[in-house]
Amino acid sequence: MTDFIPTRAIGILGGTFDPIHYGHLRPCLDLLQQLNLAEVRLMPNHIPPHRAAPGSNSEHRLAMASLAVAHCDDLSIDTRELTRTTPSYTIDTLIELAAENPNTPVCFLIGLDSLNSLHTWYRWEELLNYCHLVVSYRPNYELTLAPEVQKILEQVQTTDVEALQQQKQGRILLWPSTQLEISATRIRQLIENQQSPQYLLPDNVLSYIQKNNLYT
Ligand code: ATP
Repeated sequence: MTDFIPTRAIGILGGTFDPIHYGHLRPCLDLLQQLNLAEVRLMPNHIPPHRAAPGSNSEHRLAMASLAVAHCDDLSIDTRELTRTTPSYTIDTLIELAAENPNTPVCFLIGLDSLNSLHTWYRWEELLNYCHLVVSYRPNYELTLAPEVQKILEQVQTTDVEALQQQKQGRILLWPSTQLEISATRIRQLIENQQSPQYLLPDNVLSYIQKNNLYT
């Protein structure tokens, strides 16, 4: 067996980012610092398999995400799912990322709701062959896991942040975090109702939305 000499882990946050907001950005920075990640990449979906099509097109969502991270060296945008013409299944993305970064653990960042529905994801049992899962949850939130997910969690859960750096993949870390009460849905509704979403998202993203008449 070849030795695994790790480089610092990276984080990945997937989403529609329609539009990107501080509820996405601030937790990325918190996790970057608390888990000692080398970087966090935001990865906009092209055709989300589990959701209705988003309100603005890929080009706009990418432009907004790029503006949002323009002044932060530790955050970047990974466009691979946007440039695919087929549905972007997480497993395909993780296989690619693991192959590109043979010595770098990949921490896939999800919320507790995603862990609760993990058993519905395409080829979910294989995800941990390619990444760690870092699950942010609000303190006092309840786990309602499918029995098959619960079983895996019992086998691979860690509370040790260092385990995510020392092993290439395969661990689940439940990470308590205070979440900002911001959603893209709320921002879209505010704009639709001709109210301002200022302070929920970066100013340069809001300017872009206004300039391009998005969500009106
Ligand atoms: P929508 O309101 O359109 O459903 P959203 O605001 O939830 O969108 P997504 O693009 O679906 O945004 O989110 C991408 C990822 O960011 C998901 O994993 C989601 O759980 C997480 N996320 C979204 N909002 C927050 C928030 N306020 N705090 C922490 N994580 C968030």
